Amino acid sequence: MILRARTILPMDRQPLDNGAVAVTGNNITAIGSWAEIKAAYNGEVRDLGDVVLLPGLINAHCHLDYTDMAGQIAWRGSFADWIQQIVELKKTRTVADYAMAVGMGLEQLARTGTTTVVNVEAFLPLVTLFAETPIRVWWCPELIDLGHEGETESMVRDTVEFLGAHKNAGGGFGLSPHAPYTASRALYQAAAHSARSHGWLLTTHVAESDEEDAMFRLGTGPMYDYLLRLGRNMSDCTHAGMVRALAEAGALGPNCLAVHANHLIPSDIELLEQSGTHVVLCPRSHEFFEWSLPLLPMFREQEINICLGTDSLASNDQLNMFAEMQTLAHQFGDMSPECILQLVTTGAAKALNLGEKLGRLAPGAWADMIAVPQDGATADPYETVVFANKPICFSMVGGKMVLS
Ligand SMILES: [Zn+2]
Repeated sequence: MILRARTILPMDRQPLDNGAVAVTGNNITAIGSWAEIKAAYNGEVRDLGDVVLLPGLINAHCHLDYTDMAGQIAWRGSFADWIQQIVELKKTRTVADYAMAVGMGLEQLARTGTTTVVNVEAFLPLVTLFAETPIRVWWCPELIDLGHEGETESMVRDTVEFLGAHKNAGGGFGLSPHAPYTASRALYQAAAHSARSHGWLLTTHVAESDEEDAMFRLGTGPMYDYLLRLGRNMSDCTHAGMVRALAEAGALGPNCLAVHANHLIPSDIELLEQSGTHVVLCPRSHEFFEWSLPLLPMFREQEINICLGTDSLASNDQLNMFAEMQTLAHQFGDMSPECILQLVTTGAAKALNLGEKLGRLAPGAWADMIAVPQDGATADPYETVVFANKPICFSMVGGKMVLS
């Protein structure tokens, strides 16, 4: 098949006007000008017309389980309070509710141009229920041993065995210790070891709120008090901080995605940089909590690979990576649309260790593409995409149409 578009953004080279992409099976076989591709390749031609064609977007952090929670949890100024609200809300849900939410979330993501999602999954059976999905999913079971410290080893072992016994067409797997306040050092150590040995991702929330930072660095604050009440062993709470603790547990590295990372000190950022850990920022979720992204300029300065995610609808109102890009663009006017688009294409592909296959349009890459309507003349196609004011009109994953 040959796809023709007014503008193509390959992301690893300059934009092409009046370009075309040749697709065979799951892969892109060629990209070039319409004249070149038409002369060299046979096959059905699909002229997408006045659009920008680009790689499908990668959402590097999501919880599909909570897609039906939009607007149900209020931000009342305390992260510990928000955590307690979601814990209570989760008690009202059944596995069937979660399955429905995952389906709704996948549909929202597909409709808004995401073709790959890293999903933190609280219910292992859903991994098998959604063995085939319209977009690529990296299923990352959430691991929490708070209150179950004696079961840490068996929890990780059972999860690893479960994933090992299942196939995931088109996507991948990872392990997700929830956060340093709910996952023990032993859990991080075991999960990091298993993820490395299987070639899986390791992803975790870290330093999302100032209340976590106060808990770990100072041993004070609402999070400290809440978790103390739950019976957590707080002996790690006068430590140097969460990133240092992750480093000591072997939970940083090129297969690791540290999510949020809002409250770090310079030595934490150095640890992330030296270990090759990727950082996932969730602009709209951070906005929900009335937080800015104070460290983004430092991450960029240190050349830390940054990705974007939606997080869940417990702290966002839509699973839409265009909305995330636009929120970031409004907060950081000095970031070009091209830089922002790189975060959700080439940057995220690097974090998944699939820089050759995902996030760019090039021969040998997987045929994951979306098209954004191009209204009238725009000088910068990256800007057209980031600030798209109309829904995507086409998407393909692995050479198969998702939206056409
Ligand atoms: Zn999250």
